[in-house]
Amino acid sequence: MDDATRQAVQARSGGRCEYCRLPEAHVLTPFQVEHVIARQHGGKDALSNLAYACLRCNLHKGPNLAGLDPKTKKLTRLFHPRRHKWDRHFRWAGAELAGKTDVGRTTVAVLAMNDPERVALRQELLDQGLLLPG
Ligand SMILES: [Zn+2]
Repeated sequence: MDDATRQAVQARSGGRCEYCRLPEAHVLTPFQVEHVIARQHGGKDALSNLAYACLRCNLHKGPNLAGLDPKTKKLTRLFHPRRHKWDRHFRWAGAELAGKTDVGRTTVAVLAMNDPERVALRQELLDQGLLLPG
């Protein structure tokens, strides 16, 4: 992947993780350009298959495309930042993220978005006015 592609993905994201909405400017670990559909599943380096993600979201997502919805236990695809609208699938619940749909619930679970240390970081950023829900 070339620098221009990486910069385009970063700029498009507005500097926020496209999964958990964490702002890159206020965390120490640089974000990563990730393949929504992993190369292992035939995903390309095209902008339409790339997303900007924080380290935690990217590590938990890995090559996963789907997971089990914690509510229905049904196999459900993960949130696709290029095809899905964030607000339709997620909502803020204080410093936690909640899934509004099967896709949202599954993505929150597989990406471990509400691990205690992640919620604590979001709460700290919210308290300091550095994280605006939405
Ligand atoms: Zn994230």
